[in-house]
Amino acid sequence: STAARSSLKIGLLPGDGIGHEVIPAAKEAIEALGSSIPKPEFVSLNAGFEYFARKGVALPEETVQILKNECDCALFGAVNSPSRKVTGYSSPIVALRKQLDLYANIRPVVSVAENPEDKPDVDLVVVRENTECLYIKDETTTIGPNGREARATRLITERASRRIGKSAFELALNRPRKSNVLSITDGLFRETVRFVPKSIEPVGKYDEVTIAEQLVDSAVYKLFREPQVFDVMVAPNLYGDIISDAAAALVGSLGLIPSINSGDSFVMGEPVHGSAPDITGKGIANPIASIRSAALMLHTLGYGDAASRIDRAVNQVIREGQYLTPDLGGSAKTDEVTKEILKRI
Ligand code: ATP
Ligand code: MG
Repeated sequence: STAARSSLKIGLLPGDGIGHEVIPAAKEAIEALGSSIPKPEFVSLNAGFEYFARKGVALPEETVQILKNECDCALFGAVNSPSRKVTGYSSPIVALRKQLDLYANIRPVVSVAENPEDKPDVDLVVVRENTECLYIKDETTTIGPNGREARATRLITERASRRIGKSAFELALNRPRKSNVLSITDGLFRETVRFVPKSIEPVGKYDEVTIAEQLVDSAVYKLFREPQVFDVMVAPNLYGDIISDAAAALVGSLGLIPSINSGDSFVMGEPVHGSAPDITGKGIANPIASIRSAALMLHTLGYGDAASRIDRAVNQVIREGQYLTPDLGGSAKTDEVTKEILKRI
């Protein structure tokens, strides 16, 4: 609820790489809103591979406790995923999603008409299940007749499929008007999501939402051919990740796509992109994905007008085309783009 808040405590977890460059931009965008939201109070929190390299722990307990007990919401940057297994390290964002029960990763992908890099008319949202599938990371190796065998367990449960299905139906209902390969696990996901309209009170609530199923391979193909036909896409964890990176390519850059991780009692904004080691430290990371994540977070907390102000400012800067980072074909720096957005907020 929004009514009771006199201030808004926001955890900041830049993480690794360009997280340190884009999360400050999102913070400034929130500050630029002035009195249209409760006074924001920021608390910087440690997490990530860089922190692990210094301190031996990727997600300190203190970070989790402060988020749980003190914060209204949080913004997360990105974490480095080491290409080889590092003893003692596991991803802090995966752990955070679990510990705060942020079961839905909601990723809107929208084109801005004037951007020449864009496919026109893309306006879809990927609803990615955030807690299970192959991301439970249960892997084993054995020796078999064909040499080493590596296996990963994929977990799909009824409970998780039901609640993500509900999130997708809710989203579909609240938007302006306009699925697989592994038969057992995908089968359970599909059946459970399909059953949501009948299993959640009041029956009939989702009557206006129509469901179309698609296998993940043909869904990706169709996404590239006819992106404008998609509205809300709900998928298990791994497919959801792939679909949203593909959708990002349609609208020009990963640097544009925001997300929130949300549960029943907490919301955490997070750009869809990673830590981008190839551009870290150059000051050219696109801050828009993080700034839009802040807007999405505020929207979820009930500050829709404030969120719209941020979104309008971002869209103006993209349309004008004068201050764009290199991923969008421009030559502006992170700071310059941020400054222009702040002016327009
Ligand atoms: P990670 O392992 O952390 O995911 P990655 O190597 O996969 O790192 P991503 O961050 O996923 O890198 O980025 C993929 C590509 O998109 C990289 O070339 C990166 O430079 C680019 N990119 C990602 N985010 C941005 C951004 N905010 N601004 C500009 N370019 C970006
Ligand atoms: Mg990546």
